[in-house]
Amino acid sequence: MAPARTLRYAAGPRRVADEAAAREAAGLDAVRARSGRPGRVPRAEAAPRGRGRLRGRSCVRDRTRGFRAVGGTRFPARPVGPQPAELTETVKNWLMGGPAEMTAQMKRQIFTEDHEAFREMVRTFLAKEVTPYYEQWEKDGIVSRDAWRAAGKQGLLGLAVPEEYGGGGQHDFRYSAVLAEEFTRAGAAGLAVGLHNDIIGPYLTTLGTEEQKRRWLPGFCSGEIITAIAMTEPGAGSDLQGIRTHAEDAGDHWVLNGSKTFISNGILADLVIVVARTTPEGGAHGLSLLVVEQGMAGFERGRNLDKIGQKSQDTAELFFHDVRVPKENLLGELNGAFGHLMTHLAQERMGIAVAGIAGAEHLLEITSSYVKEREAFGRPLAKLQHIRFEIAEMATECAVTRAFLDRCIADHSAGALDAVHASMAKWWATELHKRVADRCLQLHGGYGYMAEYRVARAFTDGRIQTIYGGTTEIMKEIIGRSLLD
Ligand SMILES: Cc1cc2nc3c(=O)[nH]c(=O)nc-3n(C[C@H](O)[C@H](O)[C@H](O)COP(=O)(O)OP(=O)(O)OC[C@H]3O[C@@H](n4cnc5c(N)ncnc54)[C@H](O)[C@@H]3O)c2cc1C
Repeated sequence: MAPARTLRYAAGPRRVADEAAAREAAGLDAVRARSGRPGRVPRAEAAPRGRGRLRGRSCVRDRTRGFRAVGGTRFPARPVGPQPAELTETVKNWLMGGPAEMTAQMKRQIFTEDHEAFREMVRTFLAKEVTPYYEQWEKDGIVSRDAWRAAGKQGLLGLAVPEEYGGGGQHDFRYSAVLAEEFTRAGAAGLAVGLHNDIIGPYLTTLGTEEQKRRWLPGFCSGEIITAIAMTEPGAGSDLQGIRTHAEDAGDHWVLNGSKTFISNGILADLVIVVARTTPEGGAHGLSLLVVEQGMAGFERGRNLDKIGQKSQDTAELFFHDVRVPKENLLGELNGAFGHLMTHLAQERMGIAVAGIAGAEHLLEITSSYVKEREAFGRPLAKLQHIRFEIAEMATECAVTRAFLDRCIADHSAGALDAVHASMAKWWATELHKRVADRCLQLHGGYGYMAEYRVARAFTDGRIQTIYGGTTEIMKEIIGRSLLD
């Protein structure tokens, strides 16, 4: 069994210097410094690998506060809302025309110092282990296994997996939200830790037998076992009842045949949860979850699909030709897949929603900086009324959405979010991201169409969010059904 591990990060009040360091670490200020224009994608830098992982402030042992010390649903002990000094600062920023991120965003109330310390650790990880290699991964169409192992070593995989299997033992979704926000801000969609942690992790931890958990979870947490979930088929996407991949009972094993498409982590995955028909006449209730592992005879990968965005995410076709899947690899109830999927899809949708609003906010920051610096007709774009109204409208939409999303994050952390509100969060935040990305790209003019600009990549990377995890239309179906049927 893998030893229990402690997430290494320091808690404590953030200082201005820390903030600057974190921004620099995340490549945000470097973007401006190197390009001369805000918003350009940072170029890969030759950062040595394997040297003293994330040493320094975030790893100082005597300042480390364990992940486990944070209660699952504990909220800030201090009074909510801005404190007098902060209020003064906020008002001052409004009056003096301070930075957009200071004036447009209300102070968030759902995070504690521990979450913010975790955020800093994630930013440092991204700066050291992801950003320097990202351009290469985009060209390769795939991220490196080293990055997965580095994420495991840093304690970023299996946040909610019990410690006895090598996980963080932390059921507070706010840590997952921090992870999703920071990966989005760094533009690091290719390394799909959210999919691994928040979508696949719960299937293994809540449905797995003791033997399955001991077999798979330590590798899941260390980054040795990369995972995928395969529901979609060429003929079945929104309507999972159309699934044709089927498994026949052959005594001590299943014989699996069929194909899947659009599967995230499809090339790298060592373990794939496959939704397959185990009872032909069962309709939605004849489906089961079978775990297919790397190396099983008859399990083949198809193309690494050529997408318009998320280029470094290996999204692939999978084929199953008479794959012998041991009976021990049935996950959850026989013919119970539909119910299992319904239970876990809410968290998948929340993860995508969190990325949606975080992406929109980040685009707004980038674009606010851009229009202050870019000049036309003898003055900065930011002085033109149309531009100001564009920014004002997007900031308002983001602020309103942020309030709802933070409430959903807090509710989900407390185990109180229902599928309908998760669907609302998903369609609203991802459609907002789509609108904001389009408008921000327009405000960048021709530069916004250049792939080296953050806004261009966010436009293409983010476009999928209204489609995967259930389309906007399906989200509205779920909401409408709950209100009208
Ligand atoms: C990059 C990427 C990664 C993905 N990762 C995964 C993964 O890891 N695992 C996985 O299983 N799948 C994955 N998918 C698949 C994704 O979940 C599906 O594409 C999605 O569910 C939509 O299914 P579809 O593409 O078959 O579209 P369809 O279901 O054919 O829908 C086409 C259009 O019809 C609309 N529509 C369908 N039904 C209705 C209805 N009842 N009412 C109104 N409108 C409707 C849809 O909203 C959509 O606009 C991924 C897809 C992409 C592109």
